[in-house]
Amino acid sequence: MRQLWRPAVSKVTAYDAGKSVEPELRAGALVRMSANESPLGPSPRVVEAIRQEAARVHLYPDGGATELRAALASRLGVGADWIVAGNGADELLELLARAAFDTGDEVLLPQPSFEPYGSGATLAGATVVASPLASYHTDLDDMLKRVTPRTKAVFVCTPHNPASTLVPRARLEAFIAGLGADPPLVIVDEAYRDFCDDPETPDGVELIRRHPTVIALRTFSKIAGLAGLRVGYAIARPECIDVLNRVRAPYNVNRLAQVAAVAALEDAEHLARTRAVVIAERPRLRAALAERGAPSPDSQANFLLPDVGARAGAVRSAVLAEGILVRDGTGVGFPGHLRIAIGTREQNDRLLAAWDRAR
Ligand code: PMP
Repeated sequence: MRQLWRPAVSKVTAYDAGKSVEPELRAGALVRMSANESPLGPSPRVVEAIRQEAARVHLYPDGGATELRAALASRLGVGADWIVAGNGADELLELLARAAFDTGDEVLLPQPSFEPYGSGATLAGATVVASPLASYHTDLDDMLKRVTPRTKAVFVCTPHNPASTLVPRARLEAFIAGLGADPPLVIVDEAYRDFCDDPETPDGVELIRRHPTVIALRTFSKIAGLAGLRVGYAIARPECIDVLNRVRAPYNVNRLAQVAAVAALEDAEHLARTRAVVIAERPRLRAALAERGAPSPDSQANFLLPDVGARAGAVRSAVLAEGILVRDGTGVGFPGHLRIAIGTREQNDRLLAAWDRAR
C-alpha cells in the first residue's frame, strides 16, 4: 500500500474542540470560564475599527503587518525587524517547529504544558523531552540537567499554562546563562504576561537583548480580548525573525485582525481596565475557593487552577448546569483540578454561588 501520510502524523491526535457552544454564547446563556479569555472583551474602539475595515475585506491584508509591527516596535523599544505577527501565538509555535525542528532533535518542555509545544515537535519528527513540574512550578534545575547537544529548543511558559505560576526573572536568567556558549533556542511563552504583578516577572524583550537565541511569544487573545480574531506575535533577533518569515504564509494575519490589534494598542485604558479586573479578582476568587476546600497555586495569570480533589467532576457538572463552563483539569494534565478563567466580579460571584449549591 502506498503510504499517503507522514508517519509522525499518526503520533498526534486531532484537537478536541468538543461540542460547539456558539448558540449558547450568542444567546448569553453560557459564561465560558474554560478558555482563559478576557473578562471584559474587546475595547469599543476595536469593535469600531473592525466595523470600518469590514468594507475592505475584498482586499488582501498587508502581508508584512507593517502598521501593527510598527506600533508594537515603538511600544517595546525594538526595531520592527524584531517582530513577526502570526495567526495567534499558535501559528508562531507552528512556524518555529517548521523552521527549527527535525528528526533527531530534542525539544525540552515542562510536563504538563501547553499542548501545542509537544505536538509541534512530534509532528516535525523531533523527540519531546519532558521535565516534570515540581508541584506547580517549572523546575529549571531539572530542565538544565536534561539539556544535551541534541537539544534544539527549550520551552518556558511564564506564567505557566495550566499551572498559572511565574518563572522568576533571576532564575530564568541563571537558567539561560547555564545553557552555555552554544545555547539552543529558548522559547519564552509570555501569553499571560500582561496579568503579572510580581516584581520578579521576567521580560522576554530584555532577555532577547542579552541572549540571541531567546524568542518571546505574546498574544492579543488574552489582555486585549481578541481571541476570536487570532493575532499574536513573536519577538526575537532579526536573524530569527527572518527565518520565521521564510516559512510563513504570505497573508497569515487577516485584515480585520491587523486593524483590531492596532486599535487595541491605542486603547491603553481598556488594557489597563482588563488587567485591573484580573488583578483585583484573582486573590478574591482564590481565597473564596480555598475557603471551599479548593486551594490553588499562586497565579500570575488570568486563571486559577484549584485542587478540588475527588469532587472536581461533580462540581464542574453542577456549575455547568447553572450556565458556567470551567475546564476539567484532567484534560490539561491536572486530574482533580479545575482550570477557571477569572471573570468579572459578577461572574465570579455567580460561579461561587453555583459552587455552593453543588456542595
Ligand atoms: N501560549 C499559551 C500558554 C496559551 O495558553 C495560548 C492560548 N491558550 C497560546 C499560547 C496561544 O495563544 P493564541 O490565542 O494567540 O494562539
